[in-house]
Amino acid sequence: MRTPVAERRPQSFERVLSSMCTEPHPAARAAADRFLTSNPGDPATYGEIGDIEADVVDALGDLAGLSEPNGYVASGGTEANIQAMHAARNLAETAEPNVVTPTSAHFSFHKAAELLGVELRTVPTDADHRADVDAVTAAVDEDTALVVGVAGSTEYGRVDPIPALADVAADAGARFHVDAAWGGYYLPFSGHDWGFADADVDTLTVDPHKAGRAVVPSGGILAREQETLDALAVETPYLETQSQATLTGTRSGAGVAAAAAAMEALWPDGYREEYERAASLADWLAAELRGRGCRVVDPELPLVAFELPEAAFSAVREAGWRLARTGAGEARVVVMPHVTREMLTAFLADLDAHLD
Ligand code: PLP
Repeated sequence: MRTPVAERRPQSFERVLSSMCTEPHPAARAAADRFLTSNPGDPATYGEIGDIEADVVDALGDLAGLSEPNGYVASGGTEANIQAMHAARNLAETAEPNVVTPTSAHFSFHKAAELLGVELRTVPTDADHRADVDAVTAAVDEDTALVVGVAGSTEYGRVDPIPALADVAADAGARFHVDAAWGGYYLPFSGHDWGFADADVDTLTVDPHKAGRAVVPSGGILAREQETLDALAVETPYLETQSQATLTGTRSGAGVAAAAAAMEALWPDGYREEYERAASLADWLAAELRGRGCRVVDPELPLVAFELPEAAFSAVREAGWRLARTGAGEARVVVMPHVTREMLTAFLADLDAHLD
């Protein structure tokens, strides 16, 4: 007999080290509960959540340096990246469009290319895991519809040289997309050039359900020009609303309301404080690991990748730590809001018992 769902409990974050999800802000949880039954996919019927979504897009625009943003709250970074490529494909003036990404780009771009029938050209990163501008330049041609830069890579937390990549895209006559799905809530405070104010960025992904502390599902796609959303829009005959630019139809009002509530509570000071806390905790963890003889990839944003022998990796997982590896094999700690010094101290103590 299965345990009834009423008796089941969600995974606690106590030992979750590699996830980009986190404990939502309490105001986000409450807002999600209130708007659970509203569908922002039909804002003419569900007007209140439609207005809230417009506020979220404005707030995300503030965060990413765009004063009159276009966009919507997506189901996550995957949908936002698919839609950025979708718009680029629809706007391209070639029958055989290609998209150029560094190999560090999230696997959602592979899904997108497959769905959209676009050639994906993945270009090796430099020795420090960032997009190699010369290699990207060599990969673009007159059929390039989109160049992608990553601002906060999933595996190493690296920020690509966004202004230089934007120039490569402009020279090739291609659009330029920045994937800041995870990094976007840290980058306004880190001193990087990454957003609409720093470079000729056409579209940008930033996810409230990651470091933004909204509930899942809550992703963000932003566009400099309305033309981008127009290129995605279809007519919607049976709804009160006339057209829809989203990939999904009915969407979660919970994700939209939660994003608004989290941003009201935390933008900008709360997010700045969290960036400072997480960055210094990442530096501390990196130093502790180095002190134990581990090779550590220097953290750029609050994410620490480090070499860990297989036996120690398996032992800490056995002890309940939810730890994942990069494609190249390093263990990876993402210093999300639920990750505390106390938690990492307990992790290191378990690690000590298994390191030679
Ligand atoms: N982009 C980046 C940089 C990510 O790290 C992730 C997920 O970790 C995604 C996109 C995909 O986001 P989601 O899982 O919300 O679809």
